[in-house]
Amino acid sequence: MVNTSRSILRLLINISRKLAMALDLPAVLQQVLVLSLEAIEAISGSIIVLDDQERPIESAIVYNKRLFKKTTRQLKATLDQGLAGWVVRHRQPVLVHDTSLDKRWLRRPDDAIDQTGPKSAVSAPLMARERLVGVMTLVHPIPGFFTKDHLELVQAISDQAGIAVLNARLYEESQRQARVMTAVAESATAITATLNLQDVLQRILEKVVHALQVEAVSLALIDPHTNELEFRAATGIHAQEMIGVRLKIGQGVAGWVAREGRGVIVPQVRQDPRFYPEIDDLTGFDTQAIACAPIRLQGKVIGILEALNPIKQSFTSDALLVMTGIGNLAGTAIHHAQLFQRLETAHQRYQELFEDSIDPIIITDRTGDILEANRQAVVMTTIPPEELLRMNIDQLPGIKHEIFADRLEQLDSGETITYETVLATSEETEIPMQVNVRQVNIDGAFRLQWILRDITDYKNLDKVREDMVYMIYHDIQAPLSNVLSSLELLDEMIAMEGDPSKKSLIDIAIRSADRVEKLTSDLLDTKRLETGLPVSELKSSPVKLLVSGAIEQILTSAREKKLKVSVDIPNTIPNVRVDVDMIKRVMVNLLENAVKYTPEGGSITISADSQDAWVTMSVQDTGRGIPAEAQERIFEKFTRIREGATGMTKGLGLGLAFCRMAVEGHGGRIWVESKPGEGSRFSFTLPITNR
Ligand code: ADP
Repeated sequence: MVNTSRSILRLLINISRKLAMALDLPAVLQQVLVLSLEAIEAISGSIIVLDDQERPIESAIVYNKRLFKKTTRQLKATLDQGLAGWVVRHRQPVLVHDTSLDKRWLRRPDDAIDQTGPKSAVSAPLMARERLVGVMTLVHPIPGFFTKDHLELVQAISDQAGIAVLNARLYEESQRQARVMTAVAESATAITATLNLQDVLQRILEKVVHALQVEAVSLALIDPHTNELEFRAATGIHAQEMIGVRLKIGQGVAGWVAREGRGVIVPQVRQDPRFYPEIDDLTGFDTQAIACAPIRLQGKVIGILEALNPIKQSFTSDALLVMTGIGNLAGTAIHHAQLFQRLETAHQRYQELFEDSIDPIIITDRTGDILEANRQAVVMTTIPPEELLRMNIDQLPGIKHEIFADRLEQLDSGETITYETVLATSEETEIPMQVNVRQVNIDGAFRLQWILRDITDYKNLDKVREDMVYMIYHDIQAPLSNVLSSLELLDEMIAMEGDPSKKSLIDIAIRSADRVEKLTSDLLDTKRLETGLPVSELKSSPVKLLVSGAIEQILTSAREKKLKVSVDIPNTIPNVRVDVDMIKRVMVNLLENAVKYTPEGGSITISADSQDAWVTMSVQDTGRGIPAEAQERIFEKFTRIREGATGMTKGLGLGLAFCRMAVEGHGGRIWVESKPGEGSRFSFTLPITNR
């Protein structure tokens, strides 16, 4: 007979008290099993705990009063085909009087007659809040030993135990999740603490080794050029051999993970067709089990992380969670490290280009304070680097920063400003330079980059060329005056013949030769005056004579344009002391311009006036005029004002430069007053002849 109801009650209270505090699942199972065995005098029994999909996740087993551990897998058969399975499927307790006569009993070798033989058994489901959480089976060696009372007691115990088992199971799950979270969180801190790529990779591996306790870990990244996995980091005794090993996408477990984009645990690699043994052959490593997870960046697989051979137990599903978590972190950390590495390389490359440039380069802020100067800048300025970095670009003689105050806008729009200057170095040499200024963005700040180009060679060459040109003009003069005198002789002969058509041909030839002679004289005079030679052929000359000589030369073209040319010179005007030929050419230049830039039907007036020691002569026209900003510039050599949309103009831009040199060579000055559209008035002063 089973115990009295009092003792049953005591037993149940005892069980519920013991279970109330217990949270460790294996311990709970053992306690329940041992108490139950005692309560009904059984000698063998088992408890199998099931998850919500009715898969066994934990168990306790006692056989002949001895406790066994880790038998969950063996119990699978009982669950599939034996008594426990029947109870699970039917959610009902069952009493078996003679196991040899009951089909639900799964016969094992020890059930044979000469072994333990037929037995009596009870089995009941462990239920908690309507959920099946496990099954308990108890066995007595004598058939018919258990009665309905035993069964009821077992059911009562099972009902008590169910809730405790469920709690322990949930607790274990939450513990497991906490462990995974902690491992991943710790990895996050470690991995993101550095931006050095190799360090990042090494830290990822260390974290996996630490979290999963494995023999080796390796990490491969997809090479975007070849679309192959390349092992970039590894731990363990064969780590060195692993680095650089390549796998195709889809090849091996790693390749499979890279292709499928999801993690996998392979508990026994030799039984898995995905396993690629060649790598072990190569490295000498003996792979048993693999846990492998993809490394992702913005959802895309960029590599894989794999852990090999757990040291103590086999891989659990936690391993995959940890690996996947670290894999996800790794993607971003690796990406950041790669970007940083690229930035570093670019920076270094810039620094090398900057330092090794054959041109001096200086970086300033927008106020011109020097922030960086390369080697060549130091060499050229002969100023030591520490000193340069305390200076403003203005302080480099010749560089002239102020002009940028009003051109910053131009620089802002990305334009490069180029100008020529002369750099006076501290060694008192002067270096002609071309300066190119441009705005650059350095580390997010707007800076000015000054590239100084030494143009000494270019300038020297230019001078050689210019000298050569002047030499040619000089050598043209003698043959040209021969041509002219021959033409004039011919002119006289033809005049006597009285043939007007021949005469006009000769006149054209004379005018053209005159122009060439005037141009060469202008050029050579400009050159002479530029080099500082004085005007030597000074003679006293009546102003009217200078004027009439000049008018004569433009009369034909003025007539062609129907221009009215008038002279307004008082008879009292004193003589001037000048190089007659030169000043006549000044007049001719001004008159030619007046003709050129005055539209048909306009008028040109030549006037003269005297004051103190000077005569002021003026040429006024009713032409297109000259804009204010160009009025100073037109006296510079080769300056011309662009006309119309095409910007094409005739002439060299040399005439006015010659006029200025010539007038200034006489001690006078020249200027223009003009309003666009209303004509221009060119005036210049000449010294009065001392009486
Ligand atoms: P160019 O050979 O081009 O005439 P100049 O030195 O004589 O060279 O003149 C320089 C520029 O000044 C000319 O291209 C023209 O634009 C302007 N200029 C000179 N004289 C006049 C004028 N009388 N009216 C308007 N523009 C003039």
